[in-house]
This record gives sequence, structure tokens and C-alpha cells, in this order.
Amino acid sequence: MKHRPIEYYRNKLKEEGYKVTPQRVEVIRALIELDHPTAGEIQGEIEKQYPMISPSTVYGALELLEAIGELIPIQEGSETRYDLSPKVHPHYICEDTGEVYDLEQADLKKKLTDLIACGPEGVSRVELNFYGPSEGMKPKEEDC
Ligand SMILES: [Zn+2]
Repeated sequence: MKHRPIEYYRNKLKEEGYKVTPQRVEVIRALIELDHPTAGEIQGEIEKQYPMISPSTVYGALELLEAIGELIPIQEGSETRYDLSPKVHPHYICEDTGEVYDLEQADLKKKLTDLIACGPEGVSRVELNFYGPSEGMKPKEEDC
């Protein structure tokens, strides 16, 4: 899934009245570079450059991004992975590794958009996760 540029998130933070701190920018950068990472993976990525960053700083930035509607947590077993992709899209979750992949089939995305449109009035998002082995995420040849 293509991500928005980091500038978009800087502006969004400002618009919402939050400071654009270097730590918050690093968390956003890690979310863009890593695919559906866990908080630990984000921490590890930032530590390469900023060894002093604390887990609470990372979690604080993740909570903030979620609160302003720019981040979706995906619960997989005991782990939470984070998705910066704002548009509704289904996921394939590998039962072997817990890794999360975006499914790009247009017909599935449309079904999800339709579900939101038919759902209760206050609905802000809907999730669809497919589970299977790592070799199972090949799209079908024909629509179903
Ligand atoms: Zn995703």
C-alpha cells in the first residue's frame, strides 16, 4: 500500500494542535518504512539512529496518531501491528509468522467500502482479515 508523504503527517499534527517533535517524525518514518510493524519493531528501527528513545515515547506517538485517525492497530494474537494506510483495505495475516499483508484486489476493497456505507450511521471503519499459511495469499483467478 502506498503511503502518504511525511509532510502530510507533519501538517496533520499541526492542524490538530500537536507539536511536530523529532520523535514523532521518527515514529512516522518507521511506520512508512516498515510494513505493518509492531511497536517493538518501530523502536528497533528508531534506535539505530536514536538509541535513547524510550518505549513510552514510541507508544505515546502511536496513541496520538491513532487518536487523530491516521493509524489503525491490528490485533494479531498477543501482538499489535500498526497500519498507517488510511484507506480501507483487507489484510492477509500469515498464521505462521503473524505478518500482516495488504490485499490489493479492487473487488475486495469495494466490498469493504460498500459495507461501511450500509453499516450503522456512526461507523468509521470496518476490518476484514483473512488468515492462512504464508503460501496462501495468492489472489484467485476470477472474481467471486
Ligand atoms: Zn494494511
